[in-house]
Amino acid sequence: MTNTVKLKRDELTSNFSNGDKYDLVIIGSGLSGLSTGLMWLKNTEGKRTLIIEKNSYPGGYSTAYERSGYVFETTQLFPDIIDILDYLEIELDLKQFKGNFMRRLVVDGDHVEEYKIPAGSENFTNYLVEKFPEDAGKIRALMEYSVEMFKQVRKLKAHSKLKDKLIIPFQAPKVVANLNRTYSGLLDKFGINNPKLREVMETFTSFSGVPSARASAILATGAMLSSMTRCFRPYGYFDEFPAKMAQLFQERSGEILFDSEVEKIIVENGKATGVKLKDSDGIIRADKIITTVDPMLAMRKLVGDEHLPSKYVERLENIIMSTSSINVALGLDDKIDMTKLDLDYPYNVVSTGLGTAEKLFDGFLAGDNAFSEDCFHAAVICPSLTTGAKNTITIRCTPFALNGWTEWRENDYERYKKEKERWGDFFINITEKYFIPNLSKHIVVKDISTPATYARYSGSPTGSLYDMASLVTQFGPKRLSMKTPIENLYQPKFAHGLYGTMMNGVQVVDLLLDRKFNNGNSLFAPVSK
Ligand SMILES: Cc1cc2nc3c(=O)[nH]c(=O)nc-3n(C[C@H](O)[C@H](O)[C@H](O)COP(=O)(O)OP(=O)(O)OC[C@H]3O[C@@H](n4cnc5c(N)ncnc54)[C@H](O)[C@@H]3O)c2cc1C
Repeated sequence: MTNTVKLKRDELTSNFSNGDKYDLVIIGSGLSGLSTGLMWLKNTEGKRTLIIEKNSYPGGYSTAYERSGYVFETTQLFPDIIDILDYLEIELDLKQFKGNFMRRLVVDGDHVEEYKIPAGSENFTNYLVEKFPEDAGKIRALMEYSVEMFKQVRKLKAHSKLKDKLIIPFQAPKVVANLNRTYSGLLDKFGINNPKLREVMETFTSFSGVPSARASAILATGAMLSSMTRCFRPYGYFDEFPAKMAQLFQERSGEILFDSEVEKIIVENGKATGVKLKDSDGIIRADKIITTVDPMLAMRKLVGDEHLPSKYVERLENIIMSTSSINVALGLDDKIDMTKLDLDYPYNVVSTGLGTAEKLFDGFLAGDNAFSEDCFHAAVICPSLTTGAKNTITIRCTPFALNGWTEWRENDYERYKKEKERWGDFFINITEKYFIPNLSKHIVVKDISTPATYARYSGSPTGSLYDMASLVTQFGPKRLSMKTPIENLYQPKFAHGLYGTMMNGVQVVDLLLDRKFNNGNSLFAPVSK
């Protein structure tokens, strides 16, 4: 079969002018780098700004790719960032999932419980109340509290000054009360003990590959409300979003240099002064540098421990990066009618019962994975139902650790292929059993990404999908600060996901502009629109 699909991401080319010195260099043209670049150019004039990207196209983890005429995507869910799209004047044709947000199957031996979770927090509350009438009061109280807590997050400043810190307890008492609380702690607070109800609620922490007993209650609540309140996906392929951002950035005088890997961030007298590219002796000089790549790569390799205070290095050593994944992307024949399979949701999730997320996470922490016939979790996504392209599904499986994957790919390719096939078959069987009968008979193209794929593609030494793990111990003030110990070097790492990456741009640009753009707010609330 021939390649007939032209992706938007491939329409972009470098427009690097090789200037003497830039006002700002951004490392990485993922969504964090692009949102930073666009926010910066919108709020400054005549600043020479350069994004450096090691791949030949923009988007990082949010992308689409083609195999034998089938288009697969990495990301699937577009949260409610419409106000930011408007602000940046990005036009995207988005489909809003107005009915159900997720189809959730929970397997207990031979019994399968099905939940169809509606979009919108009120609908969700009513649905839960109907499903679990004996817990109605607790559910309503939890959801009201969650909405209120998320509103209070809006009052926080990204980089609190002393004056901000003093008023936080009055402005955002629920945030303060939950700063060290896990999501399961929040469920406990509201007396939500019914294991079935807990299983449904905990779906939102498993989005980040973290069990609810370790996930930050605030972050999990934010992820739930920002993704399900209004939830979208593009009618086109997912690469369109970063491609449009990159195009706008270039139109607004920003420069992008593709196919160029930053090898070193140059530090002189404690200040970042430029970057050195791989396979090049020259240095690109800059007044300020923003890194949006994996912090372990940025700080430990591109900067180097020798330039960092020992306390900071110790901190880096103790950070738990998020999990990696196996992704099984399948192109299916046209004998299968996908519209009849009840899969048109942002997520179709199947897992074994309560405790699964914890067991899987422990397997990941031990450096491997804990998937088995009795312990699994997988999300099935069906983009072709929206794009109208040839039938595709993606089975997304976390958490996996990098383990020996890179070693196998580089030094024992037979083993690599065998492991890939083994896990591919494992997840295809699960999908066949619970979502798509006779799936294997319809597979035309199979493309399996492993933790080694993610490590190579993103540069993350651990192949992590979601930056620093969203653990309660690494949240809010305990996350790495945007200001690094190196003067003029910034690292915006508010959170992962499309919502988080937009906020990375908002926060770091606001910091550089001394709060003149977003008034120091942690979430998007620009001074003038
Ligand atoms: C499989 C998958 C599914 C996901 N699904 C969703 C979803 O449905 N909804 C959602 O909201 N979020 C989702 N996410 C998370 C979301 O995609 C990411 O949080 C987000 O795209 C991260 O953007 P980023 O710019 O911070 O980092 P990245 O996307 O990692 O961007 C970093 C960029 O830096 C480049 N780079 C790295 N090293 C160097 C170097 N040395 N020199 C130059 N360039 C370099 C990389 O090539 C990359 O382009 C998903 C993530 C994955 C992996």
